[in-house]
Amino acid sequence: MSQAKTAIVIGAGFGGLALAIRLQSAGIQTTLLEKRDQPGGRAYVYRDQGFTFDAGPTVITDPSAIEELYALSGRKLADYVEMLPVTPFYRLCWEDGTQFDYANDQAELDRQIAALNPADVAGYQRFLAYSKAVFKEGYLKLGAVPFLSVGDMLKVGPQLARLQAWRSVYSMVSSFVEHDKLRQAFSFHSLLVGGNPFATSSIYTLIHALEREWGVWFPKGGTGALVRGMVKLFEDLGGKLELNADVVAIDTEGNRATGVRLQDGRHFNADSVASNGDVVHTYDKLLAGHSRGRQEGKRLKGKRFSNSLFVIHFGLKRPQPQLQHHTVCFGPRYRELIEEIFKGQTLAEDFSLYLHAPCVTDPSLAPEGCSSHYVLSPVPHLGNAPIDWSVEGPRYRDRILAYLEEHYMPGLREDLVTCRIFTPDDFRDELYAYQGSAFSLEPVLQQSAWFRPHNRDAQLSNVYLVGAGTHPGAGVPGVIGSAKATASLMLEDLTA
Ligand SMILES: Cc1cc2nc3c(=O)[nH]c(=O)nc-3n(C[C@H](O)[C@H](O)[C@H](O)COP(=O)(O)OP(=O)(O)OC[C@H]3O[C@@H](n4cnc5c(N)ncnc54)[C@H](O)[C@@H]3O)c2cc1C
Repeated sequence: MSQAKTAIVIGAGFGGLALAIRLQSAGIQTTLLEKRDQPGGRAYVYRDQGFTFDAGPTVITDPSAIEELYALSGRKLADYVEMLPVTPFYRLCWEDGTQFDYANDQAELDRQIAALNPADVAGYQRFLAYSKAVFKEGYLKLGAVPFLSVGDMLKVGPQLARLQAWRSVYSMVSSFVEHDKLRQAFSFHSLLVGGNPFATSSIYTLIHALEREWGVWFPKGGTGALVRGMVKLFEDLGGKLELNADVVAIDTEGNRATGVRLQDGRHFNADSVASNGDVVHTYDKLLAGHSRGRQEGKRLKGKRFSNSLFVIHFGLKRPQPQLQHHTVCFGPRYRELIEEIFKGQTLAEDFSLYLHAPCVTDPSLAPEGCSSHYVLSPVPHLGNAPIDWSVEGPRYRDRILAYLEEHYMPGLREDLVTCRIFTPDDFRDELYAYQGSAFSLEPVLQQSAWFRPHNRDAQLSNVYLVGAGTHPGAGVPGVIGSAKATASLMLEDLTA
């Protein structure tokens, strides 16, 4: 009997986990190596005094992509994780007191749109139709297909042209709706995957249709419960997860990888190696022993990177019944602030925030009568704004908490039980994220599909990428789609 083929996946983010599950389900003996003490990557979990804090993704869309991972081995997601629907999807708030509850109820949406600008009810319908067309082409057809050659890119040229993919998200939304707040309400979504709505391709309006099609979900027990459910599936299939396993090199012989080396000196051999780590780190550091790694690392450093994030996780001794699960708090400026986040060299005076209140959906995430939260503020990455976060972090935290207390959460600071911050320095140091970017390469058209680092390296024939830095890009559905694209290549190569 021939020996089972082996694979190593470096990094247990959602992309790495999904890839490891696909490989293991196909009979490839897969080892998942994660540098931190917990799996999840950006979806890490902090726990303190009975509070549970998901560190990253909280808006879970397209559960069917996750269900597919279980179905590969005849299992069911529901037997591992309970997914709870979130309604409304988001509450959008502005400083003048305007609120917009964005939900999957057309009559309710029409009522709220009409209250701001009656003409935009019809405009929204046209926007939704456009967004659905992009969703069909960009997500359903191409979201999990690798782009390895110029030919692959040329093939989709006519669709991209028809959908006017050269226009920005904001420009496209503005061609359908007139009211300033509604333009913000239907264009901010690209920020969830590190895209500047004024620069990112209008293809990213597909997020709107994706949410309308499949809803917004939250795993019972938090996003961490979904990570645990995926790890359990991988281990039930016979896969091996090693934590505290910091990979320092991918070993090569000629143009093939032979295995990896860990910081603690251990070696693992494998027939294929995939990296879910940061793409610059992967080439520049892990493949530094090969000329391809050094060249590609240098080239990638010249690319545009997404913004970073400043995140405060905090627990309160009171519930917050006035909040919805997801709140977007728009500040006084939109375009100008976003420009400063993506290009500025300092921190802006104002901010736009995302506020997470998971106990609205699942009270078990805090002790009885309490509530757990995080608030995030998009900030420039370290390459644009070399801020000393050890000094600025605590100050910025205090400014944000004071703002939340004034506008959204009365008495917040008196009710604080626990509070921690995660800064761009932490993205760089904990996750090896180049320039502390929260979402890897910026998803502009000239860095998407074939223009993004490929799912399989062009020279090292058994080295692969998975996760936010490769096609299709960041966001939980994106990286799970990348795992499907990468797994198809690996399985083709391993079984050839
Ligand atoms: C605060 C925040 C909120 C977000 N909210 C949402 C949301 O609501 N919805 C949504 O869809 N998306 C959201 N996103 C984006 C989404 O979380 C990410 O795009 C996605 O989770 C990234 O997954 P990934 O597979 O690229 O891996 P990552 O999560 O980046 O994980 C990579 C893993 O590799 C490990 N690693 C790196 N280098 C090595 C090495 N050398 N050796 C061993 N291990 C290594 C890291 O420790 C890490 O665990 C959010 C992101 C952030 C930061």
